[in-house]
Amino acid sequence: MVKRVERLKEREHAVPALLYPDISLRKGATACADNGAGPHHVSEPSTPTPRSASPATQNRRLRIAETFTSLQGEGRLTGVPSFFIRTSGCNLRCWFCDTPYASWNPEGDRLSIESLVNAAVESSISPDAAALPTDGSIDDPDSAHATGPANAPIAVRHVVLTGGEPLVAAGFPELAAALREAGMHVTVETAGTVDVDFPCNLLSLSPKLRASRPDPEAHPKWSRRHEERRMPVATMRSLIERSPAVQVKFVVDSPEEFGEIEEVVTDLRIDAADVWIMPQGVSVEQLDDAAKWLTPWASQQGYQYCDRMQIRWYGNRRGT
Ligand code: SF4
Repeated sequence: MVKRVERLKEREHAVPALLYPDISLRKGATACADNGAGPHHVSEPSTPTPRSASPATQNRRLRIAETFTSLQGEGRLTGVPSFFIRTSGCNLRCWFCDTPYASWNPEGDRLSIESLVNAAVESSISPDAAALPTDGSIDDPDSAHATGPANAPIAVRHVVLTGGEPLVAAGFPELAAALREAGMHVTVETAGTVDVDFPCNLLSLSPKLRASRPDPEAHPKWSRRHEERRMPVATMRSLIERSPAVQVKFVVDSPEEFGEIEEVVTDLRIDAADVWIMPQGVSVEQLDDAAKWLTPWASQQGYQYCDRMQIRWYGNRRGT
């Protein structure tokens, strides 16, 4: 208990820095993040305000697999309280997909942009949940959503648009624009296979490697489509060039993929510092095993090693 109180006190000072990390703006970036911060950094999001999009945009609906408030578990915003919007539907079919309810078997209701923006602007997280340690699990995963007088909620300013593949959802650019207009910091998580123009603060690009292809015998149609679609380098370059900040994440299943990753990094012309290497795995044991052979190589290449903290914090469960 004493340790938890101490941790909360430490977090009182640590949270603002985590909430608004300094994200370098890439040279030449032109779109997105019009926040008056000048050309080199994305500043903290402004206080969210009701948006003023047209009624037609407000009423537009997207199929959504789930929304939830949690901590970002991957990449440079790890630990930042965020409101996640997961669109349903994907144009790829990775064999290891950990969100099959948004790809292989898409589900979810059609929700209006207005309701999604309002939910994002009103989202909050308990101080207990925001004080999660970065190196262990928690006793009560549902505390991320707890509120109450003794546990006053912290307003969430970050939105993560993820999937499935958000870029294939009709109305996605309008949703991203409405969230930015409402003053939210917007991260877009995508496999980067579709050239769609949208505003954001951070593009989180996750190119799919050859080994992501589903079994050709069990899924001949999707295996062929997946291979045709997964790596359009020119499209990815276009997305990168339009984004104010980028992180490129690779899910790695074996050391045999190292050469392919280096080829893709070269083709995309991205800095090593913007590359995040993540283990393929859905349990702490799998992550620990992979870290033994993956971390030294990532470090040697100058890449960031990116653990999947949501699995360590909550286990492999939906809504986290
Ligand atoms: S791109 Fe992402 S959502 Fe789509 S199948 Fe692959 S892992 Fe799943």
